[in-house]
Amino acid sequence: MTWRRRDFLSAAAAVGASVTNTAPSWGADNEPSPIKPKRRAVLKLASQENRIPGKTLDEKLDRMERWGFEGLELLGKNLSTQPEETKQHIKKIKTALQGRSIKISAICGGYDGWLISDTKEIRDQAMSSIKTLLDIGGELGSTGLIVVPAFNPQPSLPHREARKLLTGFDRWDQRQERTPLPLLHELADYAARAGTRILLEPLARNECYFLRTLTDAASMCKDISGPGIGVLGDFWHMTWEETSDLGAFMTAGDYLHHVHIASRRRRKMPGEDGAADNYVLGFKGLKWIGYQDYISLECGNMGDKEIVIPAAAKLIREQWAQA
Ligand code: MG
Repeated sequence: MTWRRRDFLSAAAAVGASVTNTAPSWGADNEPSPIKPKRRAVLKLASQENRIPGKTLDEKLDRMERWGFEGLELLGKNLSTQPEETKQHIKKIKTALQGRSIKISAICGGYDGWLISDTKEIRDQAMSSIKTLLDIGGELGSTGLIVVPAFNPQPSLPHREARKLLTGFDRWDQRQERTPLPLLHELADYAARAGTRILLEPLARNECYFLRTLTDAASMCKDISGPGIGVLGDFWHMTWEETSDLGAFMTAGDYLHHVHIASRRRRKMPGEDGAADNYVLGFKGLKWIGYQDYISLECGNMGDKEIVIPAAAKLIREQWAQA
């Protein structure tokens, strides 16, 4: 079909009209969405373990319960040690969680190496230690293990080569060769067998070049398919890389299985950056996709944690209700 300029302009006008008709429902006036969400979303607050004050895990969990948190995000670096120590650590965590309403929301990084390294030894190191953490995550009932294919200073393969190594296929490659077993395919299968998943986290460009938007992460999940892989959306990174919180979460859709939250100017506790800390449109997106997983604090703080953490929880609940 040949497209002429006139066709393009009438199509654009039609799209414009449709956006104009529906836009107010997503705006600040909080009118209900014209599109029915696929299921009722739930708000489950979580936090990374090191954000909560307390000398022991029990003290931290007591505070979290008091403040209405339901998920604890563990730091992988505290878990990936010697097998015997890891076993003891898992036992300690399971004992601390017994009889509580808090569950393990996710495990954040902590593996050795990086997946798109330009050196095979480093890639192998990443694959092996990610699998160890997936075993631990599965045993603890974690939603997933947060993985960043590479951070900026880590020497890595060129973008297309890296993507092909991870997902296995580059339709523009004249040779049409598939990677024998794409790394994410292998990890997603492993994760699913362990009862958990890989969570790909897009980051802002100052931290990573390879994966910066939820759309791209979701696209990789689509290439791999299956329950062992998902996307993490981090409000902090989304502030700088996405054009719309609402659009980003809608695009991630069913692939979205974890959310990080921080204040939007300085990455402190939500609310500490005043009016900038508006998550309402993002929450509308989560409601539209029927989000079922956790929203987890990954942030610093300016004020006293005993005050700013419960205040952040209150602000999140209020904005969730508004969305
Ligand atoms: Mg994050």
